[in-house]
Amino acid sequence: MSKKFLIVGAGFSGAVMAERLSRTMECKILVIDERKHIGGNCHTERDKATNIMLHTYGPHIFNTSNKVVWDYIQQFSEFIPYINRVKAVYREEVYSLPINLHTINQFFGKTLNPDEAKEFILSKSDDSIIDPKNFEEQALKFIGQDLYHAFFYGYTKKQWGCEPSELPASILKRLPVRFNYNDNYYSSTYQGIPKEGYTKIFEKMLDHPNIEVKLETKFDDTFDVTTFDKIIYTGPIDAFFNYKHGRLSYRTVFFERGEKTGDYQGNPVINYTDNNVSYTRIHEHKHFTPWEEHNKTVYFKEYSKETESGDIPYYPKRLPDDLEKLEKYQEEVKYLTNYTFLGRLATYRYMDMHHVINDALEAFEEFNRK
Ligand code: UDP
Repeated sequence: MSKKFLIVGAGFSGAVMAERLSRTMECKILVIDERKHIGGNCHTERDKATNIMLHTYGPHIFNTSNKVVWDYIQQFSEFIPYINRVKAVYREEVYSLPINLHTINQFFGKTLNPDEAKEFILSKSDDSIIDPKNFEEQALKFIGQDLYHAFFYGYTKKQWGCEPSELPASILKRLPVRFNYNDNYYSSTYQGIPKEGYTKIFEKMLDHPNIEVKLETKFDDTFDVTTFDKIIYTGPIDAFFNYKHGRLSYRTVFFERGEKTGDYQGNPVINYTDNNVSYTRIHEHKHFTPWEEHNKTVYFKEYSKETESGDIPYYPKRLPDDLEKLEKYQEEVKYLTNYTFLGRLATYRYMDMHHVINDALEAFEEFNRK
């Protein structure tokens, strides 16, 4: 008999599951999403005023070293190779990110070669820290006070709204420090941007006679789940349980739009690492599609704040208090045998697109085994 699936959320977790299930088994799938569009935070759309492809929820550059994920996503779009080169403005000077030999030489006014730079940074690093317990200790151990204060302290305080010493070391480990002139923000094997934006990918994934998509549809107490054999839930785990053990903390971001003719900043992303500049970064979206021609330009100043009721949750903070609550929620999930909790919000983890796709593909394999 044909199975009935309910998928809550039309981001990558939900779309990958819907795509895989619909293409491999006899089933009916209903995908619901409370927003007006598919694609979750990866949604892109052409700007009405300029026709520039906008990353509605901030820059999304696809990068992965996972060949399975890369091969899978290629089925739904042509990807144009794209290297993310980010600059940082600190005390009115422009530097190269991630911290590399150019950044080190410019910052300290030197012309060191790779071995000399390694030696030099080692002399600056705090070797009293053996096992870094948080973001700050991780930074001080590897790059020392000066670079930490210039490029991480202010930015991280603005981005996360707390002292970097309260945050897990894993957040800093996302970024490399390089002793050569490689300024590729990512170290992944495969990097690119979908030629016609991300939304087209979601449209293709969800385009199947056995998939129905209902937008502006909330998953709340009034939603009848009894007719479904299996529910794949990709929304926030705390919302699922009506916040009974308390809210998990997230940072959210908001944007201030600007528009002009020509080129605003000459680069897709520039980070502002001074604590006294209120925004964290500026992104100029036409630079994400260098293969397109646009006379006008649109740019966004990005600000970060604590998520309140009604805001879109972006970054899970995972403070000790959050992890305690998470454990209580996860304990209850264990008893919900016909539910699968999947993705960034449902598992409360800091995940990139490729992590989300990988987890969804693995969850699908797990379904198949059962
Ligand atoms: N970060 C920083 N300065 C920068 C860029 C990043 O301090 O110029 C820190 C910040 O805490 C951020 C983390 O490094 O949250 C990870 O950066 P990444 O660029 O990976 O963040 P994302 O792209 O997910 O916003």
